[in-house]
Amino acid sequence: MVVFCLRRMNFKDLNLNDKLTEAIEYMGFEKTTPVQEQAIPEILDGKDLICCAQTGTGKTAAFILPILNKLASEEYHGSDTLIIVPTRELAVQIHQQVQGFSYFTGVGSLAIYGGGDGSEWEQEKIALTKGNSIIVATPGKLIAHLRMGYVKFDTIRHLILDEADRMLDMGFYEDIQRIISFLPAKRQNLMFSATMPPKIRELAKQVLSNPHEINIAMSKPAEGVLQAVYLTHDDQKIPLINSLIAGKEDYQSILIFSATKKSVAEIAKSLKGKKFTVERISSDLEQRDREDVLGRFKAKQVRVLVATDVLSRGIDIKDISLIINYNVPADAEDYVHRVGRTARASSTGVALTLVNTEDMFRLKRIEELIDSEIHKLPVPEEFGKSPVWNPNARPFSRPKNQKFKKKSGGKGKKK
Ligand code: AMP
Repeated sequence: MVVFCLRRMNFKDLNLNDKLTEAIEYMGFEKTTPVQEQAIPEILDGKDLICCAQTGTGKTAAFILPILNKLASEEYHGSDTLIIVPTRELAVQIHQQVQGFSYFTGVGSLAIYGGGDGSEWEQEKIALTKGNSIIVATPGKLIAHLRMGYVKFDTIRHLILDEADRMLDMGFYEDIQRIISFLPAKRQNLMFSATMPPKIRELAKQVLSNPHEINIAMSKPAEGVLQAVYLTHDDQKIPLINSLIAGKEDYQSILIFSATKKSVAEIAKSLKGKKFTVERISSDLEQRDREDVLGRFKAKQVRVLVATDVLSRGIDIKDISLIINYNVPADAEDYVHRVGRTARASSTGVALTLVNTEDMFRLKRIEELIDSEIHKLPVPEEFGKSPVWNPNARPFSRPKNQKFKKKSGGKGKKK
């Protein structure tokens, strides 16, 4: 269970529909989180909203609960609410949360996302034609349906853009505009974003009308997270990861983030070779496999998960004991999101970041954002020399004659 600040409102004080309150109780929620306390009354009031809040703040329930409250209490026809999200995993997760909260109200939800084998198309087509109360969709797949001409969106009253900054990063700006062109002009719009760069402001201006603004301060990594950095050359990284995990039975759930599909595959292969139970998630995997891997990792059947950024935002995985950043995330806020995966429920967790010379300036930016210095460690001696910490240095490549050579055993080459 996520630990939130005490002295918050009780859900009962929000006067939500009894069936919804029952589901909230059933899910074990007692007090509202700050974003819920601020957003729910405004949404119930029918206002447009722009909300800067990161994953883990309880923002999903903040927008789902008031919408479900309306749907449980009012008459409506056809599709009512469209939630647009950047990734398939987030679509599934939000759909599941809607199902949980709407258990006693019977409001239906459908997740529409790409990557399937095509068998889901007909069911989606029927739902989009006849209407489905809540639709959670990724932009690409939804546009594919919209192009066919049968989608009936004239009854949509609520539009929610979740993880809006991530959607723009992924190049969905025009797709979002296109989808919106199919919606009635009169609707309530809610936009949630972890950050507020100028492009998000621009989108907000176009989509929202006289919005109420909520800003939930970016939370720094929880006190219980032990953060450290290893100063490493690239060719030291995989052997270092192997040695960091080997023999550490306490780390029961390990999540490794890496920037590219290629490095994700390389890390997973190397760990598999060392007999760890390891799986990977990146965009080249079939959607069904991605869901299966994520499910098994959440159920603690897989100890190590190696993933690209697809998992850094939005996805709710509890009790991760060790996070390893194979590279420093380009966006300083992503570091906080990733590290936020650990020490959420339990009070302790470890987050290690492998930093090469090129990434040092990025680490400096992260330290500025979280307003603290992260402890820097050299790689253990057997891996050779670490680069020297110098965030102002111009990125350079290590001279060839310093190529990594493992001292013991003489088998230094590891690619
Ligand atoms: P989110 O920020 O929406 O991804 O939510 C993060 C996690 O917090 C999810 O596991 C939610 O189920 C949980 N959560 C949301 N609101 C509450 C609450 N009021 N009390 C306890 N847990 C909550």
